[in-house]
Amino acid sequence: MMTEPPKSEGSEGSEENCPICNKPKSKHTPEKVLECSKKMREFQDAKEE
Ligand SMILES: [Zn+2]
Repeated sequence: MMTEPPKSEGSEGSEENCPICNKPKSKHTPEKVLECSKKMREFQDAKEE
């Protein structure tokens, strides 16, 4: 039996939201993807010091 993941608002099925801008990753433009991954790295760098 499979356990269903908790449904979050506005998300459809397997759509994964970006933790940086809280928008579905599939809705990102290539520029936005770069921007978000850069911020994500900065965030992780700051955390893993
Ligand atoms: Zn994003």
